[in-house]
Amino acid sequence: MSGDFLKTPIEYLKGVGPERGQTLQTELGIFRFEDLLNYFPFRHIDRSKYYKIKEIQASLAEIQIIGRLRTLEEIGQNRGKRLVGQFEDETGSIELVWFKYTKWMKENLQKMKSEPLVIYGKPNEFNRKINIVHPEIETVESHKTSPQGLYPVYSSTEKLQKKGITNRVMQKLQAQLLMDIQRLDENLPDDIMAKFNFPKRLDAYKQIHFPKTIEDLKAAENRIKFEEFFFLQLGMLVKKLNHQSKFKSFEFGTVGRNFNDFYQNYLPFELTNAQKRVLKEIRADLARPVQMNRLLQGDVGSGKTMVALLSSLIAIDNGFQVAIMAPTEILAQQHYQAMKDYLAEMNVEVRILSGSTKAKERREIFEKLQNGEIHILVGTHALLEPTVVFQNLGLTIIDEQHKFGVAQRAQFLKKNTIPPHILVMTATPIPRTLAMSLYGDLDISIIDELPAGRKPIMTLHKKDKDRLALFKFMKDEIQKGRQVYVVYPLIEGSEKLDYKDLMDGYESVTRAFPLPQYAVSIVHGKMKPADKDFEMQRFAKGETQILVATTVIEVGVNVPNASVMVIESAEKFGLSQLHQLRGRVGRGAEQSYCILMTKDGLTEDAYQRISTMVRTNDGFEIAEVDMQLRGPGDIMGTQQSGILNFKLANIAKDQKILQAARYMVEHILKDDPNLSKPQHQAMKIFFDKNHKDKFIWSRIG
Ligand code: ADP
Ligand code: MG
Repeated sequence: MSGDFLKTPIEYLKGVGPERGQTLQTELGIFRFEDLLNYFPFRHIDRSKYYKIKEIQASLAEIQIIGRLRTLEEIGQNRGKRLVGQFEDETGSIELVWFKYTKWMKENLQKMKSEPLVIYGKPNEFNRKINIVHPEIETVESHKTSPQGLYPVYSSTEKLQKKGITNRVMQKLQAQLLMDIQRLDENLPDDIMAKFNFPKRLDAYKQIHFPKTIEDLKAAENRIKFEEFFFLQLGMLVKKLNHQSKFKSFEFGTVGRNFNDFYQNYLPFELTNAQKRVLKEIRADLARPVQMNRLLQGDVGSGKTMVALLSSLIAIDNGFQVAIMAPTEILAQQHYQAMKDYLAEMNVEVRILSGSTKAKERREIFEKLQNGEIHILVGTHALLEPTVVFQNLGLTIIDEQHKFGVAQRAQFLKKNTIPPHILVMTATPIPRTLAMSLYGDLDISIIDELPAGRKPIMTLHKKDKDRLALFKFMKDEIQKGRQVYVVYPLIEGSEKLDYKDLMDGYESVTRAFPLPQYAVSIVHGKMKPADKDFEMQRFAKGETQILVATTVIEVGVNVPNASVMVIESAEKFGLSQLHQLRGRVGRGAEQSYCILMTKDGLTEDAYQRISTMVRTNDGFEIAEVDMQLRGPGDIMGTQQSGILNFKLANIAKDQKILQAARYMVEHILKDDPNLSKPQHQAMKIFFDKNHKDKFIWSRIG
């Protein structure tokens, strides 16, 4: 039997038919045999275990008991009417309750009183007594023929229940299908099967639905998770190989005058080892006639700008222009300013183009871009417009990957007859395994070291009772000439409340820090942009000592003299946001502090977040914890999580499996980049059939 058997419409499975088939389609998206096969149970119940009544506690999940139904009566009136039975074994008795039942059911249950029964359900506590509501009941006789070992439990819907597709029916359908499948072609190479001792594909499916033991179940799960990671990584790495063979780019053969001049005479500081290493990786990429496609990750303040600048100089030395794109006008301005400052003494022309650039200046920029007078053009997404034409674009640097995405990256490829090299920079650390999955087709460089001499920010967790001490501490810091941020949460959906908190907080701060000795700024989302700007500027110039704000200050604020970040209701913030906020201080030479104010009695989750912040300043470690707490999909937002839609695999929990899969794919492609060897045919066929929509396969030259 071939794989096509699995494409059979679900209604043709014995026990389904047109009506149930329709329900399975609309409720669960099960159209074909293969969909049912891949509809995995969300848990299993160990039905080899039977409880004695005296062992039962309300805290238990579903359990099964052998005993007899002693009494059965209908009690209560009208809507309170219910069926109640006493169920006994030799150790005691419990109550069984039915709120919904038919006359037929009642009669049936009455008949069952004569026989030993197995009941199955979740114990509850009601009026200090244990009962089970709507238990499943069968005679010991018929129980003998039901599946042994671990019972699969499938998630269900009300409609499915109404249509009679109970969990029991679902089990029967799965069992039927597994019996009908004669053979399932293997999709993993033999050496991998042997290396990891994986169950065969059909066995894995049998074991995931009807495992005999927990070990069987685990083995099946591991295999299926591995498969999911394996084919995703195969797609990513094939794409990368393809890219390297198809996208020829410029060979920046020389490191020339500008680079050397700058490096020897104007470099304002010694590069960190991490910066040197990353620069080396980039230089190696640029020296090959293959388009660079590199992601540069580095925490806030790790010095990505200098790496961008030095890479740009290499391009310029080879006669090419550079585009630097940032997600917001403020960030574009900052890059522009930084480039101008660093290059003040050099003969390199840097310009900025954004939405607010005036027509006259635009025309001038366009002209100079085309005749090659501009070397570096910094800007927002305005750079993507077709009117922006370069004479010879050789390198594109994109800051803040998340805000742009792959489609925009691709637009730059069209801006020269040969596509330019691309360097994507992001300040949001992404856990390694997540990066591997989302950006597996890119090369990744990491700056994992901050410039020397910077004092790590000290983070403290405080509560309301510490507020007087906090104010005293703020006063001492202000006395020393420092400035302080006080940030309040802004949570969508509760803006009114948040706004009130902010205003109350502002009032208490102004009371504790009165004029004329102190001046306090406030900035929030309801202010007009001009007013916001004005207040920010006052703080930036040092005219006010305290800035009370909502999270609007998260990006683009740079006040090196601010050394204290107080975050109110810190338990309401996510980890990455806390980390970003903390990054606003620690920019000058002074010791900086981050103070996390929370209420008493935190949830476990909130406690994890706060204690992680107190424990470490390492953005990668924080990102890792964040992923463990929230799951990978939530971290990246919906936009990119499609690729993470695994059935079983979980990037946060199954890192070892992911790394093994990645390693195996790398190994295979190194040896056989076209997958032309006989032992790789099965996986290639499977990949072509099932993953074509995600990755386009073509021969690698
Ligand atoms: P980010 O990675 O957040 O873009 P920046 O490039 O803005 O970081 O650098 C942050 C600050 O650190 C800047 O003031 C920059 O001049 C400084 N800096 C960068 N690299 C070094 C270094 N190797 N030694 C000392 N200071 C550095
Ligand atoms: Mg930066």
